[in-house]
Amino acid sequence: MREHVDVTIVGGGPVGASLALALAGSGLDVQVLEARASLGQAAWRRTLALSYGSRLILDRLDVWSALRDVTPIRHIHVSQRGSFGVTRLHADEEGVPELGYVVDYGELDAALHAALASSGVRVVTGTRVTDSGGMSGYAWIEAQQNGRTRMTTARLAVIADGGAGNGNQVTREYGQHALLAWVRCSAPRPGWAFERFTAQGPVALLPQGEGYALVWTEAPERVQALLAMAEPEFLAALHEHFGDRVGEFLQVRDRSSFPLVLAWAPDAVGAHRIMIGNAAHVMHPVAGQGFNLGLRDAWELAAQIRSADRQALGSEAMLRRFASTRAFDVSASMWFTDRLVRLFTRTDPVLHHARGAGLAMLQQFAPLRHFVARRMMFGARAW
Ligand SMILES: Cc1cc2nc3c(=O)[nH]c(=O)nc-3n(C[C@H](O)[C@H](O)[C@H](O)COP(=O)(O)OP(=O)(O)OC[C@H]3O[C@@H](n4cnc5c(N)ncnc54)[C@H](O)[C@@H]3O)c2cc1C
Repeated sequence: MREHVDVTIVGGGPVGASLALALAGSGLDVQVLEARASLGQAAWRRTLALSYGSRLILDRLDVWSALRDVTPIRHIHVSQRGSFGVTRLHADEEGVPELGYVVDYGELDAALHAALASSGVRVVTGTRVTDSGGMSGYAWIEAQQNGRTRMTTARLAVIADGGAGNGNQVTREYGQHALLAWVRCSAPRPGWAFERFTAQGPVALLPQGEGYALVWTEAPERVQALLAMAEPEFLAALHEHFGDRVGEFLQVRDRSSFPLVLAWAPDAVGAHRIMIGNAAHVMHPVAGQGFNLGLRDAWELAAQIRSADRQALGSEAMLRRFASTRAFDVSASMWFTDRLVRLFTRTDPVLHHARGAGLAMLQQFAPLRHFVARRMMFGARAW
C-alpha cells in the first residue's frame, strides 16, 4: 500500500498525540502511525509529574479537563540526606495556583487519543515503522501492518517513537535504575512533593491520590533486591532511606523498575524529517522534565508547521529554524538534570557540605528560588 500525506507522525505516545492534536483543524492532511495494536493499553506504566506550563498547553488542546485523576503539587521540598540544608518552593510565591500535577501516563495517553478520535486526524494503529528517510521534496516511511509493507510519503515526517527505532541515539548509562511504586504513609502532607538527594541517587515522592508515587533511584542490584523484598521489609528500607517527613510507610503496591540513561539523537534533524520528545532526547527523571520538554517540542513544532507555507513544509530552512528555537530549552534541561544527578551522587564530604549550604542558600534567596521554579514550570526559555 502507498499513500501521500502532508505530515506523518511516527508514534502516538503523549508527545506524538499532542502534536497531532495541535495540528487538528490546520487544513493539513495529518496521520499518526502507532505500533500498538490497540490504544487501550498504554506503552508504559508510570506516573508523570506535569509542570504548570504543561497544564496550560494541555488546556489549549482541550485535554486537561478530561483528566480525572490529577493530584496537584503546591509545594516542593528539596533536601539532601545527612545535611540540614533544605529548599522549599511554593505555588503562591510563584503566583500560580499549582507548581505542577501528578497524572498517570495511561490516563493522559487515553485522554489524548479520545480527543484525537473526534479531531479528524487519522491514527493508524498496529503499524510499526521499520525505516524512514528523506529525499528531495519529501520523506518516506516504511511500516509493517498485518504482515504487509505500508509505504507513506510525506512533506514532513515527525519521529515521536520514544527512541524505540533509533539505533543512532548516543546513550550514556547512569548505572542506576529507578524503582517505581505507589506508597501509602501515616502522615501524608497534601500538595507536597519531596525530592531527596542521597549518595545512591535521588528519591522522589510525588503526591498521588491518598498516597505517593515513589521514584527511588539506586544501583541495579539494590533495585533488584528492593523489588524482591517482602512488603514490611521494603517499607522499613524506604523509611530508613527517606526519613520521617511523611511518617511511617504503611503500604506499597505496583513495584517495577526502569534503567536510567541520558540519550540524544545527533540525527534529530534530517531532510523532511525531524525527531521530537524522547526520540530526540531522554533524560534522568530526577526533575520530572522528560515529557514536559517533549510537550514543548510538540507545541512549538505545531506552531511552526501551521505558519509554514505548504511548499516550505519540511524544508531544511523550516526544520533548522525549529531546531534552533528549541536548542536552548532542550540542552539546558538536559544539562540541568544531568548535572543535578552527578553533583548529588559524588561522595566527597566537602562537596556534601557545600550542597547542603547551597540548598540552604536557595531557601534564603528568593530571586534564585523564583528563577529555578519558573524554569521548572515553563522551561529554560522562561522569562
Ligand atoms: C521512571 C520514569 C519516570 C518518568 N517521570 C516523568 C515525570 O515525572 N515527568 C515527565 O515529564 N516525564 C517523566 N518521564 C519521561 C516521560 O515518560 C517521557 O519523556 C515521555 O513518555 C516521552 O513521550 P514520547 O511520546 O516521546 O515517547 P513514549 O512515551 O515512549 O511513546 C512512544 C510511542 O511510540 C510508539 N512507537 C514506538 N516505536 C514505534 C514504531 N516503530 N512505529 C510506530 N510507533 C512506535 C509507542 O507504542 C508509543 O506509543 C519519566 C520517565 C521514566 C523512565
